Order: sequence, then C-alpha cells, then structure tokens
Amino acid sequence: MPAPQANPLLFTKLALWIVAAVGGGVLLARRRVTRRVRLIALLGGTLVFGFLYGLILGPAANPNPVASLRTLLRVLLAGGPLAPMIVVMVVVLLALVWVSNKSICGWACQLGLLQEAIYRLAPVRRRWKPPFWLSNGIRAAAFLALVGGLLLAGLDWIGLIDPFPLFSLRLGTWALLLVAGVLGASAFVFRPWCQFLCPFGLVGWIIEQRSLYRVRIDPDICVSCGRCAVACPTQAMADNLAGKAVRADCFACGDCLAACPKEGALGWRR
Ligand code: SF4
Ligand code: SF4
Repeated sequence: MPAPQANPLLFTKLALWIVAAVGGGVLLARRRVTRRVRLIALLGGTLVFGFLYGLILGPAANPNPVASLRTLLRVLLAGGPLAPMIVVMVVVLLALVWVSNKSICGWACQLGLLQEAIYRLAPVRRRWKPPFWLSNGIRAAAFLALVGGLLLAGLDWIGLIDPFPLFSLRLGTWALLLVAGVLGASAFVFRPWCQFLCPFGLVGWIIEQRSLYRVRIDPDICVSCGRCAVACPTQAMADNLAGKAVRADCFACGDCLAACPKEGALGWRR
C-alpha cells in the first residue's frame, strides 16, 4: 500500500477518529454506554469510517490503524520514502491509546467496529472467550513474522491478505477468504482479527498497560461479585479484578460498567 500523502480528506478522517475516540471515552466516564448507544456507534462508525471513506478514497488511501503502522514499519525496516502523514497518524493513534486505552479501536477503527457489530447482533447463544495467552501468543507470532518478513525479504504478509479493502469493495481472492473467515468467526469470538492477528492491537496492548483513562476498580466499594468479568468479552476485566499488573486487551466497550451493580465500584477514570 503506498504511503498516504497529506490530503484534506485524510485530515477530516483523523479529526473524526479523535472525536469518536474521545467521545467514546466521555460516554464511558459518564456511564452512558447502553446496548443501543454501542450499536449506533458500531454501525455508524462502520458506515462512515469504513464504507463512506473507503468508497470515496479507495482502498490504498483510506487510512486505518493497521496500514499506518505497517507502512511505518516497512519504511523503517525495509527502506523507502516516509510520508509525514504516516508519522502523524501513528503518533496520534498511539497517543490516543495512551490517553484513553483502546478507545481508538473500540470507537473508530472500521474493521474493529464491524467485527464487534456482528458479535453483538448475531443470534448466537454460546461464544468462546479465548485465553489471552493463546490469542496474544498468536498475535505476537504474527507480528514477528511481519517484522521478520520485512527485514529479511521486504515481504509484508498482511499486504497479501489485507482485509481493509473490504470497505472499498475491492478484495482479492485470498483477502476475501480471510474476511469471510474473520467476519464469520466474529459471531462466536469477540473481534477475532484484533485479538489474534492485528499488529496495531499488539502494540496498542503494550501501551494500554499504562493508559491514563481506563476501567478502574474502587476496592472500597467493589463486592467482588464478578459480574463485570463475566460480561467482559475479553479477559481484561478478569485480569483487572485479579489485580494483575499486565492485563488482556480492553476495547473500551463498556460492558463491564453496565454490568456492575454497585454505584461507583467501577469507572472509566484516571
Ligand atoms: S486491534 Fe487492529 S483491527 Fe482491531 S480495532 Fe484495533 S486497529 Fe482495528
Ligand atoms: S467489558 Fe472488558 S473490554 Fe469492555 S470496557 Fe470493560 S474491561 Fe474493557
């Protein structure tokens, strides 16, 4: 994928991403994230950040967190021209993770939003919450394969099966197969691409361990009922409740906050 050049439309998307991520954080902090609010955000974001920008800009120019990070890695590891826009994108997106956990993934990335919309709308009773060691182990291996491929052969494996051109309705055969698998699996597993494969998800996970705003527990109010951990679609809330220093990915969905029966026990706060 060629590096996006500075284009007014790219700046509008970056600005809207910031508004969505910050707005999502504000809604979480005020405990206003109901199922209805979440679905509106997921479907609206998929349409605007995904299909609207994807059809206007085309697959090569419609920004997404994964392409921004891949392009930066490719230039750093395999050489080539570095567009300032890419550096701006990566710095802004990772800064958002540092400020408000994975609000950028939870409220703005088109592929994340589409997967989660399917997860929430699919009429499925039994779902699988993968153990974090497994999903993160596979994701780390995928990241190492990306870095190794770029370093040794200038090969970017994600470029071969990149799912994001879905939003411009331009997928090759292998990408189409991957997208069908990811979207089908999304009915049973929360955000399978994000948890198992996404390089931005991995780098963001490292940064989110030190996020300023995230779900925090007030131990004086919490009664350890565990409802938040059951409601959480990842292992993040169980890790949080157990007081682990390193927690699984939190995608800023708000399910734990909605499930907590004790006012003030959980909050999206510093
Ligand atoms: S983990 Fe990757 S694909 Fe998922 S929402 Fe974040 S950037 Fe997008
Ligand atoms: S339910 Fe889990 S993923 Fe969602 S906000 Fe709470 S900790 Fe994060």
